[in-house]
Amino acid sequence: MTTRRYKKRKTSNSESDVKAPTLPRTSYIAKLPLELLAEILLYTKSPKDILALTRCSKFFCRTLLHEANQYIWRYARQNCLQGGLPEPCPRFTESSFAAFVFDAGPCEICDKQVNFYSSFGLRVRLCADRQCRRALHNRKLHVNHPPKDAYKVFETTLPVVERSDCFENSPFVIQWPNTEAVYLYSDWSRALQEYLDMSQKPDTLEGYIDLCSRRSAQTKMYMEMCVALHAWRKEYAEAQNLVKDVNTKFSKGLATREGLNFWDMMNTPTYSLLMKQKNASLEEIQYLDYKTQEAAIAAELVKVVESRSRRAHEAGYSTCRRAVEKHYNRLRALKQETPLPSLPSFRGLPTIRQIQQSVGQSEKEVDTSLQSQPIQTLVHSELARFHLEAKNSLAAILGFQDWKSPSSRKLHPADRLTARFQCRTCHRVEAKYKDFGSLDYAGAIMHSCSVTLDKSVPQRPFKAARFEKDTKAITAISSLLEACDISEDEKGSHELLSTIGPRVLCLSCDAQIILEPLDVIGHSHRHKSMSLVILPQDEASKIIGDHPLSHGLAVRLTNKGKISLEMRKFKVYMCRHCMQVKPRITSIPTTGMAAEITSGNTPSTSAPAAITKTNVSINTDDSAPTDTTLKAVADTTIRKVHSPAAEPCRKPATYIFDGLRSHLKELHKIDSVRDEDFISSVVKEEGGSDGNSVDIIGNAWVKSTVTDERKSTSDADSGVGSKIDVRIVADVAAAVAVASTPEV
Ligand SMILES: [Zn+2]
Ligand SMILES: [Zn+2]
Ligand SMILES: [Zn+2]
Ligand SMILES: [Zn+2]
Repeated sequence: MTTRRYKKRKTSNSESDVKAPTLPRTSYIAKLPLELLAEILLYTKSPKDILALTRCSKFFCRTLLHEANQYIWRYARQNCLQGGLPEPCPRFTESSFAAFVFDAGPCEICDKQVNFYSSFGLRVRLCADRQCRRALHNRKLHVNHPPKDAYKVFETTLPVVERSDCFENSPFVIQWPNTEAVYLYSDWSRALQEYLDMSQKPDTLEGYIDLCSRRSAQTKMYMEMCVALHAWRKEYAEAQNLVKDVNTKFSKGLATREGLNFWDMMNTPTYSLLMKQKNASLEEIQYLDYKTQEAAIAAELVKVVESRSRRAHEAGYSTCRRAVEKHYNRLRALKQETPLPSLPSFRGLPTIRQIQQSVGQSEKEVDTSLQSQPIQTLVHSELARFHLEAKNSLAAILGFQDWKSPSSRKLHPADRLTARFQCRTCHRVEAKYKDFGSLDYAGAIMHSCSVTLDKSVPQRPFKAARFEKDTKAITAISSLLEACDISEDEKGSHELLSTIGPRVLCLSCDAQIILEPLDVIGHSHRHKSMSLVILPQDEASKIIGDHPLSHGLAVRLTNKGKISLEMRKFKVYMCRHCMQVKPRITSIPTTGMAAEITSGNTPSTSAPAAITKTNVSINTDDSAPTDTTLKAVADTTIRKVHSPAAEPCRKPATYIFDGLRSHLKELHKIDSVRDEDFISSVVKEEGGSDGNSVDIIGNAWVKSTVTDERKSTSDADSGVGSKIDVRIVADVAAAVAVASTPEV
């Protein structure tokens, strides 16, 4: 092997001889005169070592296998440890005998490396595994039982197991030839086949019998050698164990004397190699052996100690981190310190960071200190500082540089309804914000980037620079606030806005789509610029009819749950864009208060705009209230003008939810379905004796009714929606009729 490597290197060098000259690979031992080499090898008294040297190079192979140098082998064998090895039988040369005795090889069953043959007679190695032993007995060994006289001819030509304890320890040892003859199954079957072939031909039988008797004599010699060899091996193993014990004891004493950790010393590469070599050659370690390698061992020991302390530190650090995470989750669950920033930001608070570094405490101790009053107070004040900085930096993104206000009634820009952010890195929002498509302040500090398409994003503490403002949402919500006459920096503006109710009409949609005030945030992403208007309660109700907006239904239906999957399969969903169509205008009235809000400068693209547009600030009528109360807001609105004959509504089509999505995408170019886009109708069991109805819109999900319901809906399919609540149709018709009557 070495030779090949050497050759390879030579060739590669010849290609690049100009490069830095490599050191010549000199083998000094090969330069020794043969007499000296022989002297050294004789001194080893180890055929194993001579064998190893022979295999090193062609030179040694030629030299040591030479007829004239066989005496080296012979001497080493005869003076080998534990009383010398037995004389090899004629079939072996000295070198092949050394290989036969000392070579390691695979276990007969599992291929694990085993040092000596377990049975020299059968040339079988077996590992210590019980299953291997069982498998060997079952699959590979053969006993001629009951014995047949006819087989006696070839039986003695086959080698057998030389001792009863070859494959397992047993207190009673019987040696060949007194043992029961155990053959290798392959040997046996080959010999049997030969015997059967020969016994067919009387002319060759005699020659065969002669051959067998010659083979028997050889096998007898071989088996005698194997028995002696086995005895030698037993003694060798015992001596090896003894040396091992002595060396271990010495190492322990040495470690104590030198003030070292015994196991650390044993695990250093240098000392463990020394120990291994000495054990293998049945030599005891001397103090001098250690002294010559002391420096290397010391250097390795320092490394071991260092890596251990590093590991301990890491373990302690991760314990502290775990405790901090646990504390953080507790704060979240108990809704303390809301809004909480994300975990990486929380870890970044000075006190928390310091606690995380306090390695050496148990998880419980860290937890106790985290829950102590002084630490909680500290964390509280640090969180307050964090919020202040985060809000100011986010406000800067919104365009409020260095915002300060002496008034406690003014909302910080980051806390306002008009504070909407999007992550520049992942452009995603947490599930809670799915409906809005952008984040508010609490969402922004809690945001942790999810995996983007091609790479995972590491979890990092909050940084305002990673966010940008959600312009569409901000413009839309500003318009809405303006329409409602709510000042964006006013405390309580959130509550004021939510009392408006579902009365916001999107002017940018082709249909009359009614929204909850906060739905404007998510809906605004649908249009380039969104125009909206607040309708009076009754008008909004007329458009929506009997089917109020079901808040959160779209999100519930699109999640991955099993119930959602079932719910999506019902054919009960109808498209509001088809149902709430805008009536055609035939005339524009000159009377009536009008208020209009557009978020962008471009007017609605929908052709049949049914709403008169004037700016909210321009009150064409004296009676128009100008105060800012909500009541007034509700009243200060818009009139719609409609043609006396609105387009009659066709019977609305019903879809399963996925069908509805396809419909919305294809016909209305709407990619993501939202609550305001569809109606989930109430299905009634027509003619049901109990008049029981199952409301899919509602949260009540009665399992037992699922099958009935599906049956009824499938009936509805076949009956072209005959069982779908007729109210829907009626509602739409009514809505259109009412809408067509101009209000005065
Ligand atoms: Zn095995
Ligand atoms: Zn992100
Ligand atoms: Zn719209
Ligand atoms: Zn539609």
